Amino acid sequence: MVRFSLAWMFAVAVFASSVFADPARFERLFDGRTMRVDYFHTGGKGTEIVALDQIVNDGAWPGSTTQLIDSSKPGEYFFEVTDVASGELVYSRGFSSIFGEWVTTPESKEEHRTFHESLRFPWPKGKVKVVLRKRGEDRTSFREVWTTTIDPSSRFVNSAALPLKPNVTAILENGPSSSKVDLALIAEGYTAGEMEKFRADARRLTDALFRVEPFKSRKGDFNVWAVESVSGMTGVHQPRTGEPRRTPVSAVYNAFDSERYVLTFDNKAMRDVASAAPYEFVEILVNEAQYGGGGIYNFQATTCVDSGFTEYVFVHEFGHHFAGLADEYYTSDVAYETGKSDIPEPWEPNITAMRDPAKLKWKDLVTSGTPLPTPWPKEEYEKHSAAVQKTRRELRATGAPESEMDALFREELLWDSKLLSSFAHAGKVGAFEGAGYEAKGLYRPQADCMMFTRDDVGFCRVCSRAIENVIEMYVK
Ligand SMILES: [Zn+2]
Repeated sequence: MVRFSLAWMFAVAVFASSVFADPARFERLFDGRTMRVDYFHTGGKGTEIVALDQIVNDGAWPGSTTQLIDSSKPGEYFFEVTDVASGELVYSRGFSSIFGEWVTTPESKEEHRTFHESLRFPWPKGKVKVVLRKRGEDRTSFREVWTTTIDPSSRFVNSAALPLKPNVTAILENGPSSSKVDLALIAEGYTAGEMEKFRADARRLTDALFRVEPFKSRKGDFNVWAVESVSGMTGVHQPRTGEPRRTPVSAVYNAFDSERYVLTFDNKAMRDVASAAPYEFVEILVNEAQYGGGGIYNFQATTCVDSGFTEYVFVHEFGHHFAGLADEYYTSDVAYETGKSDIPEPWEPNITAMRDPAKLKWKDLVTSGTPLPTPWPKEEYEKHSAAVQKTRRELRATGAPESEMDALFREELLWDSKLLSSFAHAGKVGAFEGAGYEAKGLYRPQADCMMFTRDDVGFCRVCSRAIENVIEMYVK
């Protein structure tokens, strides 16, 4: 009986992989364009409502035509598209959202708010059912939050592509979008006269990304496009400095009242601008010197372009956006509620609650002989970090020039690099307590990683593998 079941499962797996790897299947189901389903995500005070906004044509499909199912189910949300006639699952993808972060802030207990989001998938030839699911409190199960049926030929679907789009310059072009990862870099806060600067910034940051492994070895698997969206004035809105600005995709500092957190809340504008290029991933280049950025899995990433740490921020935020990597740091101020006593296992690949070291999710990468949890100079690190955070708050409060912030970060970098590279388990893969904004109860894979500090150490081995896994989903 057991042998029969295994053989049967094997046959199903072979059948499934051959079906999904069949380009003719793509042509049978889809017409080559991208369908974008826009909706409003409203909630607060324990409520959550998803309401349809519009269904539009988002340009040619830039993704794989064979890898349409996301079997690893990463992210806070997950959507599935099913062909109504056959009942076949034809597309699925995981992602995270601003709403998903906002519900973890204290404000969501007091207020209602609305956020705009999009689901993008290949334009179906027949009727499809779209189901949006949200990850449960246990972090492993999903529950349905919204479903809609779409007839692509109905009058409720707008099949026109956007007629006016920003100019696009290829920064890195390695082949057809269907077998490459396509990254769109969006200009934000650049005037028409500053487009040469934008293209130079885009080239500089693309170079920075491909200096870091595993991106370095996989450079040939990427296309990078610079989307030249024109602003009326230089820079973006910074609510704390008293210089209000309006820009094309409304990227702003101070998201969730965190001074360094940059996001756009105007998803529709961002999607319309991004659709000028074939893209799966998007990072907004904010023409500012003040340190800041943001990254949400499979949704958006942002970075300032002229801080002394811009290259670092660009790659770190892309790590969140591209591979769903969690922040491994835990001593900086964040907007989210922390200090929970009973933390369920996070879905992110690079942090763990490690209830059972024998089942550690990166167990196969642990350096042999490394104890779990792994001892490290935690108290010394925390003491120093607290002093740096205090100085940082003082600098921001007094409006000190950005060069002083850069100098503080450089000093911290030297101190951290030395501490984290010169103890017994430095450079080894284990489980180091202190990660994901929690000093206790969450663990990171290595003492140092660019998701933990600004040190020049690249991604740890666990983060690197997660990035490799995502690249594989877009190159076949
Ligand atoms: Zn890492």
